[in-house]
Amino acid sequence: MDAGQVTFARRTTRQVTVGGVPVGGGAPITVQSMTTTKTADVDGTLQQIYDLAMAGCDIVRCTCNEPEAAEGLARIVPRSPVPIVADIHHQYRMALAALEAGVHCLRLNPGNIRNPEHIKLVASECRDRGVPIRIGVNGGSLDERLYQKYGGKVTPEAMVESAMTELAYFDEVGFDNVKISVKASNVPLMIEAYRQLSEATDHPLHLGVTEAGPGTSGLLKATAGIAALLAEGIGDTIRYSLTADPVEEARAGRQLLEALGLRERKNVDLIACPSCGRAEVDVIAVAEAAQAAFGDREIPLQVAVMGCVVNGPGEARDADLGIAAGNKRGHLFVRGTNVAVVPEDEMVETLVEWAEFIQEHGVERALARADLHAAKAAAEADRAALLDEQGDDANHSEQRVELIRKLT
Ligand code: SF4
Repeated sequence: MDAGQVTFARRTTRQVTVGGVPVGGGAPITVQSMTTTKTADVDGTLQQIYDLAMAGCDIVRCTCNEPEAAEGLARIVPRSPVPIVADIHHQYRMALAALEAGVHCLRLNPGNIRNPEHIKLVASECRDRGVPIRIGVNGGSLDERLYQKYGGKVTPEAMVESAMTELAYFDEVGFDNVKISVKASNVPLMIEAYRQLSEATDHPLHLGVTEAGPGTSGLLKATAGIAALLAEGIGDTIRYSLTADPVEEARAGRQLLEALGLRERKNVDLIACPSCGRAEVDVIAVAEAAQAAFGDREIPLQVAVMGCVVNGPGEARDADLGIAAGNKRGHLFVRGTNVAVVPEDEMVETLVEWAEFIQEHGVERALARADLHAAKAAAEADRAALLDEQGDDANHSEQRVELIRKLT
């Protein structure tokens, strides 16, 4: 089977619709994030929502923690390019206010809104307005009663029970327009909680590792938890909870889905070799410059940056477009065929120019415009010169084999 055809079977869930965006029931997995502005700051929040939408975010959550925030939501919702979820903790009245503001979904934390009458009142209001609720269980704010019941520990069973108890309250008032999350900052705990939840219900699931933290460690924790579940077919919508600009969360979410083949590619998939002693250029710098040059531009091609012309073009032959360094020159190739040779300091701009051309006119036209003969001759000359310099066998295999033979 060709690598591009490998897909993960997804668990069947029912579907809810958040302001026109379907979640679950076979719909494409969506990316969510949360604004970090005060929701009462309407212009600042809308700016962030637009930035998030540009970065590939499908649904945005804003806190609704005070009356001014609810008033802000009333002004934000009609101007937002994506559906808005109001995040509610402790105060059920804020849920009612957010509904009045016209939000497309509520997130309730069953750990801190525990009065059944309040829960049922909010659910009835959502039922009448056709607005879904996310039951957002969080390991760090688990219902105290369940915490004690499970021995003073946050366990997957306790988190699932919290979600199922909330569902039962909703059921009493005939409301089932629900998606669920059982997030924890501990990755194995979160994975097991979602596994158990997916056995217990067919409501769509919102995945996340809560408080994943900053930088690389935050990205890794969130990716470990979310990707493990997605590969098992669990999860209908995802959020990276990073201590970072929320735009980074949206980018990470989108890129994870693209990497797993769960979402159609929107931007450049930049691949690059890890570099080694053969590298003829600073691969890290060129790859970062290329990444920055492509940014969020909608060019869904795979583009390769390779450190040497000896192995680069072969190893990246499946890329739509790539460049490999050799003898202070960049060797450009399209689907493995050399098409041009440019000075080293023009590698990135050449990549961008050819990517734009391919995006607009296709691979065939790109190959047709190239002087293939000259490019091939230049690539072969540089490759031969480098092999001559470094030797075909950088690992000195034959000498090693001789030594091993003497030893054995
Ligand atoms: S492409 Fe060349 S420089 Fe990059 S890792 Fe492979 S051999 Fe090393």
